[in-house]
Amino acid sequence: MRNCHALITLLAAALITIGFYAQPCFAEDEGAIGFRTLPAPPADSVVSYARWTPAVIFGDGSDKTKLEVYFKSSVRKVKLYTGSSFIADLNDDGEDGDARAGDNIWTVGGLTKNAYSYQMGDYGIYGYNVKITRHGGSEETYNNLPSLGLVKRQKTKSWKVKRNVYASRYTLFLIDKQGRFLDGKLPLCAVYCGKSNKQVFREFYKYYNDKFDFLTVMPVCTIYRPNDYAENVPYCVPVQNKVRNIGVPIFDDTAEFGSKGRLQSIVYHSFGYGAILDHEVGHNWGIKIGDALAFSGANCQYGQTYGWHYSPYSTLTGQMAAFPHLELSDNGDGTYNVKKYSYGGDYGMTDRCYSKLTLYLMGLVPPDDVPPVMILTDPDYPNYSKIPAGKFDSFTIEEIMAANGGGGRLLRLVD
Ligand SMILES: [Zn+2]
Repeated sequence: MRNCHALITLLAAALITIGFYAQPCFAEDEGAIGFRTLPAPPADSVVSYARWTPAVIFGDGSDKTKLEVYFKSSVRKVKLYTGSSFIADLNDDGEDGDARAGDNIWTVGGLTKNAYSYQMGDYGIYGYNVKITRHGGSEETYNNLPSLGLVKRQKTKSWKVKRNVYASRYTLFLIDKQGRFLDGKLPLCAVYCGKSNKQVFREFYKYYNDKFDFLTVMPVCTIYRPNDYAENVPYCVPVQNKVRNIGVPIFDDTAEFGSKGRLQSIVYHSFGYGAILDHEVGHNWGIKIGDALAFSGANCQYGQTYGWHYSPYSTLTGQMAAFPHLELSDNGDGTYNVKKYSYGGDYGMTDRCYSKLTLYLMGLVPPDDVPPVMILTDPDYPNYSKIPAGKFDSFTIEEIMAANGGGGRLLRLVD
């Protein structure tokens, strides 16, 4: 029997409701260490995808995990490495934990790992690759394996709610052996645009009242798009928006998710640590306010597309800027020094604040607190240490408000 059940974790955040916002549908493709978003394998790859079961183990060597690599066609030999160090042979002979001989799912079980460090305090990831020998004898290395998560052993109080349902203070654990709660057979799942996978949230509301603004669902393994096998999360799916003049429509899908009207957004976060959640929660307020002035959205300056993010060539540094972004300092002589922000090990996601404009979207600062947005009009400028002010477009908050219907952010206007 192939292991097809899913342990689904729902994290609930009861945040102070400071406003409402959003719009349905946008994809998140950005990566940071800890969840290492995987691209689709190239067309000529013989591998489709892979999974660890479980995807996270204790980093003290005390428990075991299994790797399954799903191939498009038959191969002769598969070996697991970390870097250039050989770890183990995989097999497809129906023995030693392999589900079925000759099904092109190669398996190795019983793997343990001692963490030499935890990059995120009590959580870390570890990377592997497989070396593949095809029937003709040619060899290749496949590096797109999902990372294995390692976590420090710690005590967390949890309790059984009922059969196959457990809870801790911030989390509900649903064991879904029949695969009813998500649309797909993990690790393949289309979590796209909030059009699907709503059952898991309706399940959550069987146990909790409607007092949460954000819910995060973590299917505890790396999940892949069924069409091209790229990693399919993290995503924010806004559930409603009641704030006018921020570039997103007014809508209310709360009932479909089982909420009686409070839920703002849901986030799918298959694997990794929590820093990216700051970014996803920021999408609750869209990040569409610059679309009309071409410093966010699909038609940014130079024809670039940054989706629901600020242009990386703007001064809107922080959580909601596309990668990379600019740091700008005034030279005091009519020119600016511009540095492209270089990301640390976690792409700077842990210490990047929300920009003032984002805080304005959230209703946390008044418009007077938002400085003008500057956008570099020539990303290939030859001297980044002395860029004349004329090379930037600049928009005041008044101009930004005027481009979004005027009147500023209108909170909870009653229809
Ligand atoms: Zn984003």
